[in-house]
Amino acid sequence: MDIFGENVFNDAVMKERLPKATYKSLTKTIRDSLPLDPDVAEVVANSIKDWAIEKGATHYTHWFQPLTGITAEKHDSFISPTSDGRVIMEFSGKELIKGEPDASSFPSGGIRATFEARGYTAWDCTSPAFLKEDGGVLTLCIPTAFCSYTGEALDKKTPLLRSMQALSKQALRILRLFGNTTSTSVTSTVGAEQEYFLVDKKFFDQRMDLMLTGRTLFGAMSAKGQELEDHYFGSIKTRVAAFMHDVNVELWKLGVLAKTQHNEVAPGQFEIAPIFATTNISTDHNQLTMDTLKKVALRHDMVCLLHEKPFAGVNGSGKHNNWSMSTNDGLNLLDPGNTPHENVQFLTFLCGIIKAVDDYAELLRLSAATPGNDHRLGANEAPPAIISIFLGDQLSDIFKQLQNGGVTRSLQGGELASGVITLPALAKDSTDRNRTSPFAFTGNKFEFRMVSSAQSISGPNVVLNTIFAEVFSQFADRLEQASDFDKELRALLKETATNHSRILFDGNGYSDEWVEEAAKRGLPNITSTVDASLVLMRESTVQLYEKHQVLNKTELESRYEINMEQYSKQINIEALTMIDMAKHKIIPAAIKYSTQLANSINAIKTASSAVDVSVQENLLIDLGATLASFKANLTVLENAVQEAADHGDDSYAHSVYYRDVVFKAMGTLRADGDKLESFIDAELWPLPTYAEMLFML
Ligand code: ADP
Ligand code: MG
Repeated sequence: MDIFGENVFNDAVMKERLPKATYKSLTKTIRDSLPLDPDVAEVVANSIKDWAIEKGATHYTHWFQPLTGITAEKHDSFISPTSDGRVIMEFSGKELIKGEPDASSFPSGGIRATFEARGYTAWDCTSPAFLKEDGGVLTLCIPTAFCSYTGEALDKKTPLLRSMQALSKQALRILRLFGNTTSTSVTSTVGAEQEYFLVDKKFFDQRMDLMLTGRTLFGAMSAKGQELEDHYFGSIKTRVAAFMHDVNVELWKLGVLAKTQHNEVAPGQFEIAPIFATTNISTDHNQLTMDTLKKVALRHDMVCLLHEKPFAGVNGSGKHNNWSMSTNDGLNLLDPGNTPHENVQFLTFLCGIIKAVDDYAELLRLSAATPGNDHRLGANEAPPAIISIFLGDQLSDIFKQLQNGGVTRSLQGGELASGVITLPALAKDSTDRNRTSPFAFTGNKFEFRMVSSAQSISGPNVVLNTIFAEVFSQFADRLEQASDFDKELRALLKETATNHSRILFDGNGYSDEWVEEAAKRGLPNITSTVDASLVLMRESTVQLYEKHQVLNKTELESRYEINMEQYSKQINIEALTMIDMAKHKIIPAAIKYSTQLANSINAIKTASSAVDVSVQENLLIDLGATLASFKANLTVLENAVQEAADHGDDSYAHSVYYRDVVFKAMGTLRADGDKLESFIDAELWPLPTYAEMLFML
């Protein structure tokens, strides 16, 4: 309790430190989404500065989220010279509100030419300022949005805030139709469960692939993987427990509601989840969580891997994005109550969400598309690349009733008896869980499970907020016109339930049958980032985003270009890293071992012709053949990378080339490399093995 929020300029600190009128004005701005009064900023800046300096800070930074998907900061000290050769500590309202970082070295997807280098950061007062601690040094961080000189959003925060406004506006229209006159805003809420791997730093340091790309590009599977299912929820090892404790302390100081932690499915894999908050704060907090995991791991001589697929052959990492929306007076709009069939407002929102997910499945798929996540989505792993919704027994039953035009019952869970007298009888939920669904209703929220472990959760939530806002606006347009509201609503729900039943699926999302069935239903199955990104350029996407003022056409185009560019660049880095490791680590090791074998054969033969050297000879032959194939495949990859420039004119063609030619060549080379690993003397193998990395913590 004492340390929680210690490094945050939160509501309690503001109340204590700000003049009453300033505090009132600022909280009103935050609560009711009003424009910021410049005089207020001046007073707040001074107060934040005093607070930060008392805590030991000397510098501040506008903390923003460029389209790299990570955060950016540029530190300035508070010092300001006086005429007598000394300094005073200053921080003005202007400095709080606006920053001018050089924008030319951030991804812009062509929005901004390098000669138009100016960019602006603008204070987001809805996410509190905080002090980030690094090596005992505290820096004041002001959460900000980031835009170009011409005003386009160059970051992940601006569209998120815009999408939250859009959702609020349209959800309120629905609430008003149901007679709610008291709520004044609706906020989307998110709790992001973050998965990650830990490896011992001494192994990490010997793996250039982990260092440069975040994943192993070579590595034969260890004898044991996750098949015994003995890691998930297993007893947490001492070293990991100490790490988790330190992470929690750091996060609590930052006001992050770190709550749940456990071993995940794969060996060496873990999860941390906070208590949910508004989407904006959750997004900032998830960035801080990723940052903290990495930094604290180093203190424990471990490295935290956030990559979606650090190790082939065991589960990758994702981020479950739990999403709901509540009113400013605290109503969770996705809480069905005990008898959802009587909760028509809930059913209206539910139908809206189902329709939106069906209508905009490709946008949702896109929102989780990253080169790293391609290893999970569409690669026989959780979750599948096909978007579908799991509702569970109770809501599925109600949905069927809606199709028939009237709802009369809600299935109930009942009681669960264990058969042991001393154990309590358990109230059973009305609905089981489904772990394979990419979009599952879990009691009073939806869980979007496609999101990748390393990406910012902003993108996925921008899509969720925007597509829901769109369908709610369609519903409101229709219902506001109705002469008989009840009749129109019944018709609307019936129609929605009938037209969108194809998106509902309660079965095993990992099965091949589902892939076939989904194709029959006409559901998209997009397996790569490159293809998923095309939806950004569609006219209907532009219309949707422009209608709700979330992103304009230029901003969408820039995001498309960045997606393509980042894909090509990422695969290029991976290919070059593989080539380097192949040439400087694997081939030399194979030659050394061949020479050892050859020397051994010669030495033994010289000593006595009676000794059987067939084992060494056969090994030498196999090794020679595999090495030759490895070298040939290395040449193929080298040529593929070199020729990539010839396909560079069009960003889509360039990415397709990287996916279909370079990435494929990497897979072939890896197969030979992993085979070499299986032959070669462990003493000579130049890389830490999977068994070491996954099990030695
Ligand atoms: P599980 O792994 O069983 O799905 P967890 O407890 O790990 O569950 O995570 C559930 C997440 O959902 C938590 O972050 C929790 O705070 C969040 N959550 C709960 N209610 C809401 C809500 N109304 N809106 C958004 N997120 C929510
Ligand atoms: Mg979980």
